[in-house]
Amino acid sequence: MALPRIRVHKNCIKPIQQGHPWLYKGSLLSSVSVGSPMLLVDEKNKVLAFALADRGDIEARILSKTPDKIPDLLRKRILVAQSLRNKVVPPNTTAYRLINGAGDGLPGIVVDMYNDLAVVKIYSASWEPHLDAIVDVLDTLPNVNDVYRRFGVRNVDGKKGGMLLCGRPIKDLMIIQEHGLRFLVRPKIGQKTGLFLDQREHRAFIGSKAKDEQVVNLFSYTGGFSVYAAVGGAKRVYSVDISQNALDDAKENFRLNGLSPDQHAFIATDVFQWKADLHAGIVICDPPSLSHKKKSDTAAMQSYTRLAGHSASMVPRGGLLALASCSARLNQKQWESASVQGIRKHGRWSWLWRANEPPDHPVSVHHPEGRYLKFSLLFRQR
Ligand code: SAH
Repeated sequence: MALPRIRVHKNCIKPIQQGHPWLYKGSLLSSVSVGSPMLLVDEKNKVLAFALADRGDIEARILSKTPDKIPDLLRKRILVAQSLRNKVVPPNTTAYRLINGAGDGLPGIVVDMYNDLAVVKIYSASWEPHLDAIVDVLDTLPNVNDVYRRFGVRNVDGKKGGMLLCGRPIKDLMIIQEHGLRFLVRPKIGQKTGLFLDQREHRAFIGSKAKDEQVVNLFSYTGGFSVYAAVGGAKRVYSVDISQNALDDAKENFRLNGLSPDQHAFIATDVFQWKADLHAGIVICDPPSLSHKKKSDTAAMQSYTRLAGHSASMVPRGGLLALASCSARLNQKQWESASVQGIRKHGRWSWLWRANEPPDHPVSVHHPEGRYLKFSLLFRQR
């Protein structure tokens, strides 16, 4: 069947030619059903791109310059993504991001691997009709046995929970490896798809600097940074999170790595209210995204300032402070300036390392909106 040819607004021609994967609402001059493959054309009927029709603020997800069959395109892109991961995922690591949306040429699709389980999260309704095709390709990968979908994306599925797409019923709890360390994952209920895979390299760096230090890990979740620090020889690690369940799993993660949780502290509290009378050679502060909409950007900047100040106040001279943000809404400059405003009251600081997404989370250079992770390691000079 011939693909529908949909004319686009003339203002969209340049972004399409520059390779941006989105067309915003109002770009298409006629309508198509959600998920339909289509050719985007200019006023002379010249083909500009091949895309899927979406709904909501984004009207089209652009996939390539020339038409293709969706299952073929999925196969090609997923195989390329897997071969990239074979090169960049570190040894002894069984949890990694296999598909990172536009960074892998598949805008709106995220797939995380936990051992042989692929957890799919669909961020664009345009992929709903093609879910089977996605699963078919994943199922052919030698390292995939089971495929599970996690819901929880507003405007796409808008519900909690998840469903098995292929393979055996998945367990509530599994154990993965990261740099040879062992971690619990709850793929059905854990945050995001289960773990925050994007901080792996930052966790390893912190672990390598933790010997004989006291370490405070704010917003610890299941103790990712904490376990690395404790394995790295930290004297005492304080894991602070509002969720008791996350802290219970953090304790279990200590045990899984041969560490006694009793030698460390697990504090269930709201970090914003926590009055810490502590000094720690390393403080980590990795909060959840504090801004999801424009309205909350200013408040989020203030919160980052407050948190940076609160964290910095615990770090003595010669200590390290790791700050992170996963808010896509704030760019590096905004977030760094909010952070600096917080820490400057607490001594003189130098940046040691400013990092972003790790290599298993590629970001398309044509899609700056795909950048979200910011990580700063600061050293307190005096
Ligand atoms: N650094 C972690 C991921 C942090 S996710 C890792 O590497 O795995 C954010 C965590 O912040 C979640 O566990 C959530 O329970 C916790 N959280 C959210 N709001 C909080 C608050 N006000 N005080 C303490 N913890 C909070």
